[in-house]
Amino acid sequence: MSYDLPSDFHERLSSKFDAAVKSKSLVFSEDLKTKLIHHSFGKSVVDFQTTLLPSLTDRPPHGTIEANPFASPEPELTILDSYGTQDEFKIVFNKFPVVPNHFMVLTKEFKPQATPLSSTELKATFAILTALQSHKKDEQWFAFYNSGPQSGASQPHKHIQFMTLPNGFVPYAEKLAYTSDPFLPNARDEPLQNGDIPFAHFVARLPEISEIEDDDLTAFFVSLLQRTLTVLRGNGAKHISYNFIFTTKYMLMVPRSSNNYKGVGVNSCGIFGLVLCKDQESLDIVNSEGAQVILERVGFPSTAGIKGEEHDY
Ligand code: AMP
Ligand code: AMP
Repeated sequence: MSYDLPSDFHERLSSKFDAAVKSKSLVFSEDLKTKLIHHSFGKSVVDFQTTLLPSLTDRPPHGTIEANPFASPEPELTILDSYGTQDEFKIVFNKFPVVPNHFMVLTKEFKPQATPLSSTELKATFAILTALQSHKKDEQWFAFYNSGPQSGASQPHKHIQFMTLPNGFVPYAEKLAYTSDPFLPNARDEPLQNGDIPFAHFVARLPEISEIEDDDLTAFFVSLLQRTLTVLRGNGAKHISYNFIFTTKYMLMVPRSSNNYKGVGVNSCGIFGLVLCKDQESLDIVNSEGAQVILERVGFPSTAGIKGEEHDY
């Protein structure tokens, strides 16, 4: 069974995005102030990009199951009304994009955002990433999933988002992935963690696309989730919250203790190093305290080098 996209998907993405901007169905402002920072943690250099985007203050606050914008997405924002081997998904633009063509895969039926990604959701995400990557070699796409009350998610209906990386930005997770051979999700192989970075983060390098077998994606995801659940339990968390980043090369999962630091919201993009500020006050907090301090506070202490125990997940 295949998760192939229409061959003109990429063209549709751009033309539909431009049309939605023109008709003001999307709230998109290129009035961004960005700054790239290379921060040293011990011997490691971690890239952060801060973005100030005042138009984000127009965005509605949290959705609810009753007031759910994903129950019937706007036609102007809908890229594919049906996608998946069972027609189980829709592909829709994010109404408040920060970069062009920022879109999401939504489940057609309501499913809670707090549930782990299923095997079909992982396969669909990977198929979309692979198609985008092969079509436009100069764009670096990633998918992200904010799950749980402290993850920075704002909508309860299940959605996986897709965005491109800024030019010149190399995520710490990518640098870490390249230090290793592909991950083997068995009891002996530990996901990667950079001991210089103070918060718990788990990276699995993926094999070449042609070598990925049917159940591998689920096995990789579950291995990262096991480590995440162990960290949450070990720190007495009363919730299951994490960020998940997926590219064609690696997966990253980060357990979360809080969805914000002093009012600065952090989601998967933030934990990946792309820190978005809705106003000058938030940017001042990030600049004065340091993005690295904020990520440390919204995560949990690193477990790099600590051997797993028998009662771990
Ligand atoms: P999250 O914050 O991870 O739950 O992602 C939900 C995303 O949905 C946010 O980034 C919003 O910008 C976006 N959003 C909110 N309302 C709508 C809408 N009516 N149509 C499309 N996207 C929306
Ligand atoms: P949220 O509603 O919390 O999901 O977040 C804001 C929206 O902006 C999300 O849909 C993210 O995709 C996106 N976003 C967050 N941080 C960044 C960033 N630094 N650069 C570009 N987009 C971002």
